[in-house]
Amino acid sequence: MSSIVAIKGFNDILPTQTPAWRRLEQHLSSLMDAYGYQQIRLPMVEQTNLFKRSIGDATDIVEKEMYTFEDRNGDSLTLRPEGTACCVRACEENGLLYNQTQRLWYMGPMFRHERPQKGRYRQFHQIGVETFGIQGPDIDAEVLVLSARILRELGVAEHLQLQINSLGSSDARAAYKSALVAYLSNVYDQLDEDSKRRLSTNPMRILDSKDANTQALLNTAPVFLDYLDEDSRTHFEGLKCLLDAAGVPYQINPRLVRGLDYYGKTAFEWVTDKLGAQSTVCAGGRYDGLVEQLGGKSTPAVGFGIGLERLVLLLQAIEVVPENLDQQADIYLVAVGDVQSTAMQLAERVRDELPFVRLLTNCGGGNFKNQLKKADKSGADIALILGEDEAKTGKVTIKFLREEIEQQTLAFDEAIAYLLELE
Ligand code: ATP
Ligand code: MG
Repeated sequence: MSSIVAIKGFNDILPTQTPAWRRLEQHLSSLMDAYGYQQIRLPMVEQTNLFKRSIGDATDIVEKEMYTFEDRNGDSLTLRPEGTACCVRACEENGLLYNQTQRLWYMGPMFRHERPQKGRYRQFHQIGVETFGIQGPDIDAEVLVLSARILRELGVAEHLQLQINSLGSSDARAAYKSALVAYLSNVYDQLDEDSKRRLSTNPMRILDSKDANTQALLNTAPVFLDYLDEDSRTHFEGLKCLLDAAGVPYQINPRLVRGLDYYGKTAFEWVTDKLGAQSTVCAGGRYDGLVEQLGGKSTPAVGFGIGLERLVLLLQAIEVVPENLDQQADIYLVAVGDVQSTAMQLAERVRDELPFVRLLTNCGGGNFKNQLKKADKSGADIALILGEDEAKTGKVTIKFLREEIEQQTLAFDEAIAYLLELE
C-alpha cells in the first residue's frame, strides 16, 4: 500500500523552519502593537458569494483559483483566498464600522488553486492590515510607512522597491477603460491569448501582462494618469508629499493595477528582483467602495497584505539568517540510573525558578556517554547531571558544554541559585 502524502501546494513547515517563522510572526505582531493596530481573527471558510461579490467575477482568483465546495447542507463555501473581504464581512456583521475608525490586522493561511512553484503555493500565509473610516491620504501614508518599517527592520528593505499608482474613481476608470479598449481593439491580433480574453472581461489587467509583445503595444496606449479625476489627483499628490516627508522612497508605476476589482485611488506593491517571477512581497491599496458593495454604509478603507512565504524566501535569499535557530534547549538534564522521579522533580523546580530557560530532559534512558551526546546535539550550553549518588544526596552536577568552566556539584537549591546568577 502506498503511503499518503500531502496535497500538492500545501506545505509542512518543519521544526527547523519554525524558529524563523515565529521570529517573523513576533516581529510583525509587535510592530502592529507599536502602531496601535488591533488584531482580528477570522474564519478560514466563508460563503462563496462573499468573494464573488467583492473580488470580482472576472479576476484570476474568482475565475480559476478558489477552493469552492458544497458542504453537507448543500451550501456553497470557499476556503478564503484573501482576507480583506472576510475582514469587511466581520466588521460589518459586528457593528465595528458604524461611526468609528478601525485599524486592524490578521495573520493566517489563504488558499488559491494556482500552479505551485517557488513563492507560489496553494496554501500560503499572509499578514493583512485593514483600516476603515479614514478618507485622507494620511492613513494611506501610515500603512505604507508601517509596511516600510516591517521590511526595513527585517533587513530586506534594500532589496525591495515600493511602486505606487492611483487607480482613480470608478468614473475615471470607466472612461479610461473605454479608451484602452478602443486602442487595443485596433491591435487585437497582436495581443497574447490572455490579454485577448481580458479585453472583454477585465481590460485594465492587460496593463500588467507579462507578455513582452503586449507590453510593447502598451507603450503607445492611453495613459491612466491623463484620465485621473481631480479628487484622486489631489489624494495622490497628498500621499506623495507624506511619503517624501517620512523619507520613504517610491516609484510611480502607471501600469500597476492589482488583480482585485475593489481597489480605487491608491494602489501599491513592494517588489523585489530576488524571487524570480514571484516578485511581489506586499500589495495593497484603497478600497472605498467595498463596504457598500457588500451591503454596508459607504466607508473609506485602505490596507495591504504581505505574503509570508515570499518574505521568508527573501530572508533566505539574502542570507539574513537569524542566529542559534537550531538550538533546541539551553539546559539538558542528564539522568542516569534509577532517578526518574527525582529528575522530574528537579526539572519542574528549574522551570519554576528559571521560566525563560529552555530545559530539555533526557527521557528514554541511556548511559552517561549516550546522554551527553544528546545534550550536545540539543545545542544546550549546560548539562545538569543527575546520577544515583547525586539523587540520594539531593545534589546535581552542573557541566558546561561549550565553555572552559569547571563543573560543580551542588545541592538543588544552590544549583538553582547558581543558574539564576548566570542568567
Ligand atoms: P501575484 O501577482 O504574485 O499572483 P496577487 O496579486 O495575486 O499576487 P494578492 O492577492 O495581492 O497577490 O496577495 C498579496 C500577497 O500575497 C502577494 O503580494 C504575495 O506576496 C502573496 N501571495 C499571493 N498569492 C500567493 C501564493 N499563491 N503563494 C504565496 N504567496 C502568495
Ligand atoms: Mg495571483
